[in-house]
Amino acid sequence: MVERQLRRRGIEDERVLAAMEEVPRELFLPEDMRDRAYRDGALRIGEGQTMSQPWIVACMAQLLELKGDETVLEVGTGSGYAAAVLSRICGEVITIERFESLAEGARQVLSELGYDNVEVRVGDGAKGAPDRAPFGGISVTATALDAPPAPLFEQLAPGAALVCPVDRAGRELLMRYRDGQEEAIVPVRFVPLVADEP
Ligand code: SAH
Repeated sequence: MVERQLRRRGIEDERVLAAMEEVPRELFLPEDMRDRAYRDGALRIGEGQTMSQPWIVACMAQLLELKGDETVLEVGTGSGYAAAVLSRICGEVITIERFESLAEGARQVLSELGYDNVEVRVGDGAKGAPDRAPFGGISVTATALDAPPAPLFEQLAPGAALVCPVDRAGRELLMRYRDGQEEAIVPVRFVPLVADEP
């Protein structure tokens, strides 16, 4: 997977590649899906949600340009896989999931693996985690309509990147925001970021 799906397709951050090599992707999947863990695609994880394709997970991690000591926020824990990858390349990960069942599953695997620098929270990730801000990077793994939720920008440290898929007039693009600048990276498909009651 690392050679064929990642390195050959432009993932070059060695810390990201090492993390992708280290984290056992199959353990984050329901048992009947495990034989498909290293395929070049997204996979079902329950509650109608999906775990992203390996390349997307690596690409999003690389876009954050982490050095190693940052606290990173992830919105959309899902299986916990992307949080696990991030936890190998930063100081601490706070990850938020709407579904209690998914959050609980993620917590369990992360703890079995001894990845104890990840905190899984249940709630509306669009509000971020103001008690732990500012973040040295924010990764949103569900598609926001038009733009990422405003509270996330407020919780971003100066110079830090916010990576988020955005739906613009029906076109879904992975965007990176940093210091007031935005950059379109690649067309993507994610599940929608659900807006809960304010
Ligand atoms: N990063 C995940 C993929 C997650 S799929 C992985 O590695 O497996 C996107 C997840 O975002 C889903 O689990 C969905 O329930 C969650 N989600 C959608 N809207 C949300 C919101 N407002 N707050 C928190 N989680 C949300």
